[in-house]
Amino acid sequence: MNQAYDDGYIYYPGLTAFPVTLGHEFAGEIVEVGSQAISKRTGKLYEKGEPVTVEEMAWCGECKPCCDGYPNHCERLQEIGFSIDGAFAEYIKVPAKLCWSLRKLERNYDDVFKIGSLVEPTSVAYNAVIERGGGIRPGENVIILGAGPIGLVSTKILKTAGAGLCIVSEPEEHRASLAKKMGADYVINPIKEDFVEKVKEYTDNEGAALYLEATGLPQVVTDDIQNAIWECKAVNSTVVIVARAEQRMPVCGEFFQVKRARIIGAQGHSGHGTFFNVISSMAAGMDITPMITKEISIEEVPENIKLLQTDRKNCKISAIIN
Ligand SMILES: [Zn+2]
Repeated sequence: MNQAYDDGYIYYPGLTAFPVTLGHEFAGEIVEVGSQAISKRTGKLYEKGEPVTVEEMAWCGECKPCCDGYPNHCERLQEIGFSIDGAFAEYIKVPAKLCWSLRKLERNYDDVFKIGSLVEPTSVAYNAVIERGGGIRPGENVIILGAGPIGLVSTKILKTAGAGLCIVSEPEEHRASLAKKMGADYVINPIKEDFVEKVKEYTDNEGAALYLEATGLPQVVTDDIQNAIWECKAVNSTVVIVARAEQRMPVCGEFFQVKRARIIGAQGHSGHGTFFNVISSMAAGMDITPMITKEISIEEVPENIKLLQTDRKNCKISAIIN
């Protein structure tokens, strides 16, 4: 993934069904309410005008993984903006069970839709580092590889959760400066600097409780992660894989045995209280809007999607539909 092939396509492992309207990170206002569209906030029908955001994963609720409490692994999954119509449109029809109220954000944010549209990617990061990765104890160090949107939001979540040092590895300078804005204590440029030596220097050889693979380049970064685990003092580290990639990770079992370390896979954002907790964190002051580096109109979406194929300066581009 993330690598253009000769024919100009990229490898994308998720669901797609074309033609489809794109757009899976969004927020909006309720304009019509179905006869059974119950709000989780009030226990009654949704009210017109309520601001909401929506899970992108349309889990069925009836298959074995769903019934076992694992909606991110639904066997009959549909994905809004990929296999069913998404939100680059004036209106979108979604199941009430996927909606989450943004009312509590109205106290702290002038534009609840702008930050509300970031609840989905923030929930992917929260699922990775808190739900799947087990979170951290305040004071523990964390290392994030890759300052794309998921790496950046994970930085903010883990600092909010009380991380000691948060070290981000990222070669692109605009992304590196965004990582600082999101709370990173140090940024390593893995192309110009020796990753393991820098981790040892910044953490005084302690290492980290949690490593997040958010680059999509496991064949490049796995050695760095393992060597840092091996050479630093920390035992019991968790490596969370959140970026999608088709390449395999070459793993040395010995390192994971001796250092009591583990590798955890993370996918999706649904269930486990995640959307609710992300919205509550934002209401309590976890502001991730610095990730929005540009605002455009709905008409400008196609040209900006093309732009993002080569533009690494922008992070999240927010499209506003009036
Ligand atoms: Zn299901």
